Amino acid sequence: MSDMRRLEAINLREYDIRGVVGNGFNAEDYRSIGRGFGSVIVEKVGADETPTVAVGYDGRLSSPALSNALCAGLMAAGVNVINGGMGPTPMLYFAAHVLATDGGMMVTGSHNPSDWNGIKMLLCSNSFFGDDIQALGDRIAAGAFTEGVGSIKEYSIFSRYIERILEDFDPGIELKVAWDPGNGASGEVIENLVKRLPGQHFLINEKIDGTFPAHHPDPTVEKNLVQLKELVRVNGCDLGIGFDGDGDRIGIIDSKGRVLWGDQLMILFAREILKESPGAPIITEVKASKAFFDEVLKAGGDPVMWAAGHSLIKSKMLEMQAPLAGEMSGHIFFADKYYGYDDAIYAALRLLSILGNTNQSIADMQDALPKLMSTPELRFECAEDRKFRVIEEVKLRLANITDIKVHDIDGVRVETQDGWWLLRASNTQAVLVVRCESSNEEGLSRLKATVKEQLVASGINLPADFYLGL
Ligand SMILES: [Zn+2]
Repeated sequence: MSDMRRLEAINLREYDIRGVVGNGFNAEDYRSIGRGFGSVIVEKVGADETPTVAVGYDGRLSSPALSNALCAGLMAAGVNVINGGMGPTPMLYFAAHVLATDGGMMVTGSHNPSDWNGIKMLLCSNSFFGDDIQALGDRIAAGAFTEGVGSIKEYSIFSRYIERILEDFDPGIELKVAWDPGNGASGEVIENLVKRLPGQHFLINEKIDGTFPAHHPDPTVEKNLVQLKELVRVNGCDLGIGFDGDGDRIGIIDSKGRVLWGDQLMILFAREILKESPGAPIITEVKASKAFFDEVLKAGGDPVMWAAGHSLIKSKMLEMQAPLAGEMSGHIFFADKYYGYDDAIYAALRLLSILGNTNQSIADMQDALPKLMSTPELRFECAEDRKFRVIEEVKLRLANITDIKVHDIDGVRVETQDGWWLLRASNTQAVLVVRCESSNEEGLSRLKATVKEQLVASGINLPADFYLGL
């Protein structure tokens, strides 16, 4: 049987493969992707050895069948599959690391709606992304596959994973914690993990259910945190912890029901890690608050601004040997004692270790963070062939202005006397993203006016209410 297929361009994204399951994206595509990725691995490892790939899948209804098709494709390319079954994405990453496989493939739609699915890939423990994914699409379209007969072995990494998560946990004082895995793939792990923790634990939506009956499994959107906030309030918890659909993104609520965003959470982790590794680089993305850069510097670290996207952040982290990196979206990467991938369950226990060993509550810590005024991340459509050009035009116009600092690692982040503003192009959608931050209202208004000026100068005319929001 030939697995030659042309994958829809929309499914091959910058960081992973993703799409709505149906005619344009189905089990046959998964078989082809397995065969294509398997061929990449066989060619890399060489013909003398049969390579191994760890496979896992999330709790979506479509995931078991798609995972089977993927495994069949891998075996047809000559790869031995270690099938870890259902669980969160970081558990699959863990399996790939500790079993030292040649690759890892996770069938997951992450935080997307229930009719979506996708694949996250590791090649010899490194992210497989960007040009790698485009080249994989070309290989599949051309049918350039290796031939072989691989085997498949079921392997449960579940207990070993839980033991590893607990290894770096330092309990201290007992805490009251609310947990919401959002019916995502981390539910079973959380349920078992909290039985091993001191203190009181309140769980909701721990049953894995791919229809996500309670709420959308994305803890970075406030409306998905309503239940968790209520659980914290009713039980007088010290904090609430939410996870996305596949457990690689975390969301935190303090005892007063306030969200701690990814960059704020990173400050708490950075302070802790910098005690052991003074001067270490701590990496975040261009969307992060100035507070992150100031606080990391104050804690004796070297704050590094890098391009958004978890694969890009992970690669930079490896290059700089950074002990910690993170994104606004709640992907937090620990490499001081852990393996440098984004594991929200591990991050949760690192946070509990910090809180258990200080007399400050997370609400106190939140109160002590610098108060800045910012807009949310605002997105608007801009044609695919235009979005990067707009950024270039803005850069050119800014070149003549003297009293500003421009960071152009990913779009433009412009520091002025008033604070900063950001304009960047999404890597995955025909969308431009804007954000501004200042210490005061007047400053924020001036930043917003500057952004508007720049957009208008590039012929982008957005409705007036966009600028109200901005
Ligand atoms: Zn995710």
